[in-house]
Amino acid sequence: MSADDARPDDTAGSDDGDEFNVFLSRETVAGDDEGPLAGKTVAVKDNISTAGIPTTCGSAMLDGYVPPYDATVVERLCEAGATIVGKTNMDEFGMGGTTETSAYGPTKNPVDPEHVPGGSSGGSAAAVAAGEADLALGSDTGGSVRNPAAFCGVVGIKPTYGLVSRYGLVAYANSLEQIGPLATTVEDAAALLDAIAGPDEHDATTRYDAAEGGAAAVSDAADVPDDVHPADATEYAAAADGDVDGMTIGVPTELVEGADDAVVDVFEDALADLEARGAETVEVSLPSVEHAVQAYYVIAMSEASSNLARFDGVRYGIDGGEGNWNESFARSREEGFGDEVKRRVLLGTYALSAGYHDKYYKKAQDARAWVKQDFDEALAEADVLATPTMPVLPPKRGESLDDPLSLYLMDANTVPVNLANLPAISVPAGEVEGLPVGMQFVGPAFGEETVIRAGSAVE
Ligand code: GLN
Repeated sequence: MSADDARPDDTAGSDDGDEFNVFLSRETVAGDDEGPLAGKTVAVKDNISTAGIPTTCGSAMLDGYVPPYDATVVERLCEAGATIVGKTNMDEFGMGGTTETSAYGPTKNPVDPEHVPGGSSGGSAAAVAAGEADLALGSDTGGSVRNPAAFCGVVGIKPTYGLVSRYGLVAYANSLEQIGPLATTVEDAAALLDAIAGPDEHDATTRYDAAEGGAAAVSDAADVPDDVHPADATEYAAAADGDVDGMTIGVPTELVEGADDAVVDVFEDALADLEARGAETVEVSLPSVEHAVQAYYVIAMSEASSNLARFDGVRYGIDGGEGNWNESFARSREEGFGDEVKRRVLLGTYALSAGYHDKYYKKAQDARAWVKQDFDEALAEADVLATPTMPVLPPKRGESLDDPLSLYLMDANTVPVNLANLPAISVPAGEVEGLPVGMQFVGPAFGEETVIRAGSAVE
């Protein structure tokens, strides 16, 4: 099989009622009869492992791969009573922002099928926007939940790093990513977060936020009292009360300046509405964000080059056939990976190589530390920060694939949040010529309640 043979065309999925090419598989898994999500349907991004159900990461490399176990979030969904209705299309291994790098054809935006749904969790956002599922799970390494939420006119939450278990999430850039919920309302997205949040013994990076909240109260998963079930420990849905009276909202000038005028107009109208509800807005500055996109891509590609080494045709992936190990490894990856994945593995390997490591990877880590510090300072002046989620309207399908740099720049407002490991939400704030515009709120570490409260005031 050649790489081209492995890439079905644009019409994939259109013969089974899936007119936007949302699903890569449609097996149903019924959850428990009772629970906070009983009766709700959930679509799950195809990089989240589901026992007995194919999990392809949108890649020909994993065509036919069936995981032997469930991701922790999948177990928790089912325990909360939700029914899984399918696995959703995505940019290959999460690398992209339009759901066009999938080996299984692009997903169309249900709001306007000429346009991209955003990505990389485009199938999950489109599933919710098209009414194919009540709720969905995506993953957000540099914006992949918030970007498609904004472009499809739905709500998406990127949790604080460590709030949600990554056990069973196929890693792209593990120091940056979190699994996050998508839904049509803030309350529903928050209820899904309640179901999946909390420490997990399978993921040593998960943390437990001891009721009072705030980073200071966070202890290791190992310290969670035995009688506390993670799902009972949070009350995010209750925070969706729209009460922003007295809240201080910081507006980082750098992340508004770079956005298109039409997007800024919608953003400013939404801010004025929040002021009318009693919020106070203040200007804040994040000078380091001019380096954030560069730092993010160096770090994300470096981690990806290492994480994707397991796809060698022996441990995972397409069989590379006859020959010595080098030949077989190379053939497996030549056939299994698409262009964007190859580009990133090559650049990431280069950035980590002896002789260049200090020049690129270490510099990027320094920039990351600076971004974190800027957010800390800005969040000392405000309860929450607000920005347009995406600086642009959803592009037309086919427009951005040949121009990776412009795609990377589209992530200007989302990637700084991942570099700083903070929580953020994207909520629909309005539209321009029928295309949705999303507004992003960013909070302090483990300050999910605050971003949820702010987001719920925009609805
Ligand atoms: N667009 C970003 C990237 O391609 C973000 C992707 C993501 O969050 N998975 O890396």
